[in-house]
Amino acid sequence: MQTTTRITQATQVTQATLRQSRGIERLVEGVATSDGAGVKLTRVLTGQLQHRLDPYLMLDAFSSDDPNDYIGGFPDHPHRGFETITYMLSGRMRHRDSAGNEGLLENGGVQWMTAGRGVIHSELPEQENGVMEGFQLWLNLPARDKMTEPWYRDFPSAAIPEYRTADEITVRVIAGTSNGVAGAVSRADTEPLYLDIHLPAGCAYSTALPAGHNAFIYVYRGAVQVAGTLVGSRRMGILSNATEADGVTITATEDARLLLIAGKPLHQPIVQYGPFVMNTQAEIHQALDDFRAGRLA
Ligand code: MN
Repeated sequence: MQTTTRITQATQVTQATLRQSRGIERLVEGVATSDGAGVKLTRVLTGQLQHRLDPYLMLDAFSSDDPNDYIGGFPDHPHRGFETITYMLSGRMRHRDSAGNEGLLENGGVQWMTAGRGVIHSELPEQENGVMEGFQLWLNLPARDKMTEPWYRDFPSAAIPEYRTADEITVRVIAGTSNGVAGAVSRADTEPLYLDIHLPAGCAYSTALPAGHNAFIYVYRGAVQVAGTLVGSRRMGILSNATEADGVTITATEDARLLLIAGKPLHQPIVQYGPFVMNTQAEIHQALDDFRAGRLA
């Protein structure tokens, strides 16, 4: 089996020893909503959290085995000013964009798209039944890069670096570096860390986090504990920014799977209008004008 082979070959690491773990500042349930052509999802990171979790702008979680919840997909729509990272746990989604890129995102794969000055794309399911489960994260761009040329990469599951510990914790490193293992993508300004962590019951996982970086976890299976606070299934836990903490230790109270996401804040104005995220209202008007005039992409 491909999965077994990949885990067997994964780098084995010794986990960081921390002075002090961050704690949980707040638990967030997310908001049930729909987007695109009626795709049901949970908006975990909403607009109200964009400053607290700078440089992240949005996290959507989708999970359903009912095709009515996802079959419409996301037909042609624009983006400007940030990056979208789609991580598919299960299911098949076809991407096509105005820069001529096309790719099929499936089980365990990641699509990283830098919208920059503008992309018009579609994200459409390529299955008529079965489970569709995954996440879309929006990462902001620094002001000077908001009008950069679009960029796009597909990473099939086997291309995502992975490591494990002696007690069978498995970590997939989508972005950044954790316990010495570099991920698929790195970014100089926002230093994103994006991990998918599989924790057997009773095991404790530790990784370093730079003190100034904003960070959160999202538990999508089971439950974990962080510094005495229980974070249950389908809950986000925002990690505190205590300056004396040098990382986070996460203990599984049952078999658990979770995302750990952290990044360096940009500390810049955030003005969002739907799929455009800029620094000023004037730049939003420009994006709308460009889109309507066919100049966006
Ligand atoms: Mn999109």
